[in-house]
Amino acid sequence: MARIPINIKEGKVATEEDLIVGIDLGTTNSLVAYIKDGKSVAVKDGKGKSSLVPSIIHFTPIGRIEVGDEAKEKLLSDPANTIYSVKRLMGKSYKDVAGLENYFGYKIIDDDTESLVKIRANDRFFTPIELSAEILKALKVRVEGELGRPVHRAVITVPAYFNDAQRQATRDAGKLAGLDVLRIVNEPTAASLAYGLDKQNQEAQTIAVYDLGGGTFDISILHLHDGIFEVLSTNGDTFLGGDDFDRAIMDHWVAQYQLDPAELSQALRLKAEEAKKALSTEDTFQSSLNGYQVSLDRATFNALIQKYVQKTLDSCRQALKDAQLEPSQIDRVVMVGGTTRVPLIKSAVSAFFGKPVYDQLDPDEVVALGAAIQADVLAGNQKEVLLLDITPLSLGIETMGGLMDTIIPRNSKIPTKAGRQYTTSVDGQRNLKIAVYQGERDLVEHNRKLGEFILKGVPPMPAGLPKLEIQFILNADGILKVKARELRSNVEQEIEIRPSYGLSEEEMAKMLLESIQHAAEDMQVRGLLEARNEARNILLSADKFIRQNQEILSEEEVRKITEFRDRLQQATKGEDKDLINRIMEEINDFTRPLAQRAMDFVIAESLRGKKIND
Ligand code: ADP
Ligand code: MG
Repeated sequence: MARIPINIKEGKVATEEDLIVGIDLGTTNSLVAYIKDGKSVAVKDGKGKSSLVPSIIHFTPIGRIEVGDEAKEKLLSDPANTIYSVKRLMGKSYKDVAGLENYFGYKIIDDDTESLVKIRANDRFFTPIELSAEILKALKVRVEGELGRPVHRAVITVPAYFNDAQRQATRDAGKLAGLDVLRIVNEPTAASLAYGLDKQNQEAQTIAVYDLGGGTFDISILHLHDGIFEVLSTNGDTFLGGDDFDRAIMDHWVAQYQLDPAELSQALRLKAEEAKKALSTEDTFQSSLNGYQVSLDRATFNALIQKYVQKTLDSCRQALKDAQLEPSQIDRVVMVGGTTRVPLIKSAVSAFFGKPVYDQLDPDEVVALGAAIQADVLAGNQKEVLLLDITPLSLGIETMGGLMDTIIPRNSKIPTKAGRQYTTSVDGQRNLKIAVYQGERDLVEHNRKLGEFILKGVPPMPAGLPKLEIQFILNADGILKVKARELRSNVEQEIEIRPSYGLSEEEMAKMLLESIQHAAEDMQVRGLLEARNEARNILLSADKFIRQNQEILSEEEVRKITEFRDRLQQATKGEDKDLINRIMEEINDFTRPLAQRAMDFVIAESLRGKKIND
């Protein structure tokens, strides 16, 4: 299997190497780095001040999109249309984020199902993929500005615990931003690369990466042997970070100086962060805030954050336990994230592992710097025409509406295997068709069909009940085995395919190229098809809902639901996905209290999960 460099601009196989950049797509901040004169450097803004781009997107009333510092300023003035922490939503369904509504200042459409989340801004609906793509586009513009030439290829980092769906969402965001994502790399692996830990001639080593950012904490235990990083365990807290330290300082000042928190809120928060940062290098902090004198010394600050520090160490203990290791068995400890500049953090982590920590590189930049190193390695590899250990195109199956669902993403090392569960969308389906495709486009009709088979003899069940497990096993010879099994009945079947058979390098390059050229329109079509699929489920369950809850619904309520249903039905015939989404949102808002009343029947309940095509 070959790895093909493509020149997107000219639309052909690239003969000359172009640069691959490294991107840290963070929850709070993102940045891009590349190798300049043999050294990894992060690209700063136009003023040469900061390399960090706040991961914030603002939609202006006229539909202009602002990203980064410009968007951050709108957090207070236009919170409903200013989207932050979108990384927390990548590859997540509504059910995954239930209970987090209050954390977000913007609207996440909650329809209580397993479909992927959408975010509403100015009456339009966006997926986390589209929003992340905006951040990536801003980074692309930044690095292109610095280099004075186009950049088309990138390595993007993700947390070690990201699952397949979250990784695929990150790839899709790259594609939508016009970037060929050559590889998704784990953040702790990138940080280790930045410190050159893979270059030390040691047989094998065990590395702990302690990453404390603005709102998240991750500890990863890695095993490094023969240049390969293996994740032994991960742990952490998705709501613990520097923001908590700021809040602790605010609460302390409010109590000490009898401040009115409402009056000062944002100024107080900024002053607290300023104090925290100052105390990373100074012993005391003194300043004034709206006429009040405020001060803080490091000992008091340390006492305020002690419980958070302990919490991170508890996570470290758990991660070690899961990896079946003692602290003394860790060879290196790498510090990542802006908050690891706090001296108490450094000393506590160093004491916990009983060794000095790696903290010489800028903890904000270290992940991006490592991603750029990985990118450079890949660029070097490109000189070899043939690489036997990579699958050049994504492999997946057709799901409802003719959509491609990738199971093994392109550039996966082989041998590899991956699996996913699906269900049905029609009552009593006995035969389930599994169609296998290769390619990067969102619709299977644009991809290459590798084969199909029918899983026969599934006992009839209501839609949504069957549990169809699909497994892809790609062996070292490039032969793909596809296994399908219905878990409730244990009916199973499999086929074998050779994905590379009859496919030339030019054809592969063409497929890759087209996927990036058509990424935006593909995303539109996917959005529309997914909205229609969701609408179809709601239409089916709306009728059931009325039928089964006649006693508890008033005539007016029945009339209202019927009216909604008709409007939705009409909308699904059109091409406006935002309209479909808006009506679904209205239906959900209207039926939620009714469904609660009906308790035993929630709309859409019986129809959850991704459906295979019927
Ligand atoms: P993320 O990984 O979540 O995107 P970062 O690694 O960029 O986050 O970390 C951001 C956090 O680092 C913020 O809470 C910020 O206040 C904190 N931070 C930045 N510089 C310092 C410093 N000098 N001392 C203490 N905390 C800092
Ligand atoms: Mg980070």
